Amino acid sequence: MPDRKPLIAGNWKMHLSVAEAVELVRRIAAETEDVQGVEVLVAPPFTTLYAVREALGDSRIRLGAQNMHWEMSGAYTGEISGKMLQEAGCTYVILGHSERRAIFNETSEMVDLKARAAVSLGLIPIICVGETLEEREAGRTFDVVQAQLEGSLNNFKEEKFIPPTTVMAYEPVWAIGTGKTATPSQAQEVHQFIRGWLERTFGTGVSAGLRILYGGSVKPENIAELMAEPDIDGALVGGASLNADSFVRIICYEKL
Ligand code: PEP
Repeated sequence: MPDRKPLIAGNWKMHLSVAEAVELVRRIAAETEDVQGVEVLVAPPFTTLYAVREALGDSRIRLGAQNMHWEMSGAYTGEISGKMLQEAGCTYVILGHSERRAIFNETSEMVDLKARAAVSLGLIPIICVGETLEEREAGRTFDVVQAQLEGSLNNFKEEKFIPPTTVMAYEPVWAIGTGKTATPSQAQEVHQFIRGWLERTFGTGVSAGLRILYGGSVKPENIAELMAEPDIDGALVGGASLNADSFVRIICYEKL
């Protein structure tokens, strides 16, 4: 059995003031201090990164960002580089979230550039893919996910190498923030498909070690059944990560 440490990641999106973010992360850190065997990550808004890092102190909770630009610096008004994220204490960065793809016209080619830049700095990318409801209903889920994988991981594919720490996230767009979760078997089917693609592209040893997170209305009530699926290695959590009680319960899913 490959050793894939479960990862529970909270995506705070464009929520929380500095004071609220600090208060939330302090509670999460205090209440999960004794949790073993699960890696925990929070991805706060850019403006709260420094304060959250400070509040984390020597906690094992990791800090991530929700996006970055692929250049290291330059005339890119409004953008943040991977280098800046590292300076703020980030070790992870979420790339290609469906909200970025849909609202900000981010393409897989841009995600690919970002992933390459992140890895060149030693930042771990969490690369998101997922189909819309319309695409699922038209029976196009696998085609859409495959096209996103091919485009977003193009550089890794050409180099025939993907860093083993890279994290994939399957987030069906119809399940994000809607309260509609994919059933464990619907999620597993796509996770298995993603792992199959990774295996054909990078080899069995590599694909067996990469973590694939599920995201889409994860809550304390459904995390355990999702985590019971063989190819689900963790969760990317939006709404439920903004509340200390629910996020802590998700992290402690083995005890639920
Ligand atoms: C997300 O934003 O990545 C997400 C999965 O959101 P939610 O958990 O709220 O559906």
